[in-house]
Amino acid sequence: MTRLVLVGPPGAGKGTQAAALSEQLRIPHISTGDLFRAHVGQETPLGQEAKRYLDSGELVPDSVTNEMVRERLAEPDAKAGFLLDGFPRNTKQAEVLGEMLAAADTKLDAVIQLDVAEDVVVGRLMSRGRSDDTEEVIRRRQQVYVSETAPLLEYYAEILVKVDGVGEVQEISDRVLEALRDRT
Ligand code: AMP
Repeated sequence: MTRLVLVGPPGAGKGTQAAALSEQLRIPHISTGDLFRAHVGQETPLGQEAKRYLDSGELVPDSVTNEMVRERLAEPDAKAGFLLDGFPRNTKQAEVLGEMLAAADTKLDAVIQLDVAEDVVVGRLMSRGRSDDTEEVIRRRQQVYVSETAPLLEYYAEILVKVDGVGEVQEISDRVLEALRDRT
């Protein structure tokens, strides 16, 4: 169980959970949000292009996102496994990811859905304080999740592992690890 994707609405705790799981499973945590924020912080050309999308809660165009992921997955530490957090975000990206993995003769092992009710996630985001956590941008990110990202749950139905995302960090990662074990 080494090639994994974590899906859930903004504020579901994907970043925190991905960090815990990547440590326990000893696979790199690859967050497209973190990669974009690093580019924005370093003011690279990619960062300059991505910034307005992050600031408004829209998705960065697939062409930019897919190439960034392709480069990251080509790094040696991702060869044996990875935990993707925030990618894919729509079915087109999922298709491209599938092609990238097929080209390397691999595929995803599981897609973990962190299940958290919408009123819970909005409350969490309001208290997080990231620069794109204003009420308007939060609302837009939720809409984008519902229209663009939630269809992935159907797309990945056969390898989907749904886990209750409410509780302590350790408690939730234990649930995920147990659910992954049950699948094998
Ligand atoms: P996150 O840290 O996952 O909440 O992502 C923050 C922002 O980065 C999102 O609101 C998007 O603007 C952008 N982003 C992250 N991942 C993707 C992706 N896979 N496709 C397009 N945009 C993304």
